[in-house]
Amino acid sequence: MPSHPLVVTSRFDRSDSHTLMGYEATGGYQGLRRALEMAPDAIAQEVRTAGLTGRSGGAAFLTAQKWSLLVDSEPRYLVINGDESEPGFCKDRALMERDPHQLIEGSLICARAIGASQIFLYVRGEMALAQERIASALVEAYDAGYVGADVLGTGWSIDIVLHWGAGAYIVGEETGLIESLEGKRAFPRTKPPYYPTTYGLYMQPTVVNNVETMSVLPWIVLNGGAAFAALGENRSLGTRMFSLSGHVNRPGNYEVELAKLSFRELFESPDYGGGIRNGNALKAFIIGASFPWLGPEHLDLKMDIDATPPAGAPLGSGIVVMDETTCSVRAAWRLVKFYAHESCGQCTPCREGGSWLEKIMYRIESGAGRMEDLDLLMDVCDTISPAVQWPFKWPPSMTTICALGPSIPPSIVSALGMFRDE
Ligand code: SF4
Repeated sequence: MPSHPLVVTSRFDRSDSHTLMGYEATGGYQGLRRALEMAPDAIAQEVRTAGLTGRSGGAAFLTAQKWSLLVDSEPRYLVINGDESEPGFCKDRALMERDPHQLIEGSLICARAIGASQIFLYVRGEMALAQERIASALVEAYDAGYVGADVLGTGWSIDIVLHWGAGAYIVGEETGLIESLEGKRAFPRTKPPYYPTTYGLYMQPTVVNNVETMSVLPWIVLNGGAAFAALGENRSLGTRMFSLSGHVNRPGNYEVELAKLSFRELFESPDYGGGIRNGNALKAFIIGASFPWLGPEHLDLKMDIDATPPAGAPLGSGIVVMDETTCSVRAAWRLVKFYAHESCGQCTPCREGGSWLEKIMYRIESGAGRMEDLDLLMDVCDTISPAVQWPFKWPPSMTTICALGPSIPPSIVSALGMFRDE
């Protein structure tokens, strides 16, 4: 068992973890009670002390700093991004299914800290169980006085609006999510000027945070930001959830202390991955489907937000292991096919380039590839992400409105760079 405290998964072994009774029996809503006694700035200061960074992709932006960017006008909103859809990511779904009250409590604490007048919780369309459990939990929370008018008799009032998505990956992009909440197609907005903290939902200042980031807050308020910051090292503080999948014996969602565990330990420890399947050798691994691949030479890197970017990839939350039997062409094609399908179509390089790349990769995978296709792939990748090359330099350049476009080349460039002979 891990030696560090479990910040967000401590109730995962309880069968009643999704109910108010189970939640309250394990300290639930004590963080909210504490937060209601604190000044909003004091809550934000604890989060700043904790050094908490966003628990979604690889941006690792400081949460308290994001909150501080909210322009000073009313109303202001809190939007929770529960549209987790990156291939290989399934940890927010687990948090919504297994501990929905923790998410609700964390959202209330955040709303209190930033002065939000309303919370919007957007859950991915396909996550039926998460939707059911969050809806039930929210009814319980309203009935118990944790949400609604005059929360716990303090005079503070707040509502939470649930919104079910329709299954579009691009809604995970925060401005696409805001457009979708407003009832429009999830077209990402151009930034600048549409930074949500200035022009967000209904053009009002808005903080968009993801599910795990909110779920951490009750623990930070109850235990103090310093206790959170005592876990991990340097900028990689606290614990963080990772979805581990692919060719390991024990795939699953694991909460680990940042900066302490290497990828080798994650894959091989009996507490985590339990080794590569069938005793096979590792071929490559992905630490975010939008990012370049890493190889066996990177196994001893720590799971640290500053350790992986020099190797070409930021630390995402979905780790996919590929053993020596994996076809790199097929793996890259499957990833490109996903992004080509999910392009919203606003930008020509992403819309056209993605589908061309998918067709070329399919041609190679189906045995009809031509040698000149290899240079053609790089040429099209260069149109989406100028000067892209192997070894990959992070962050990539882009010619598109959002980061989905430059998410397409990494798997192709990785396959070409690492396994060109295939
Ligand atoms: Fe849409 Fe792709 Fe442009 Fe993003 S990069 S706005 S997904 S077309």
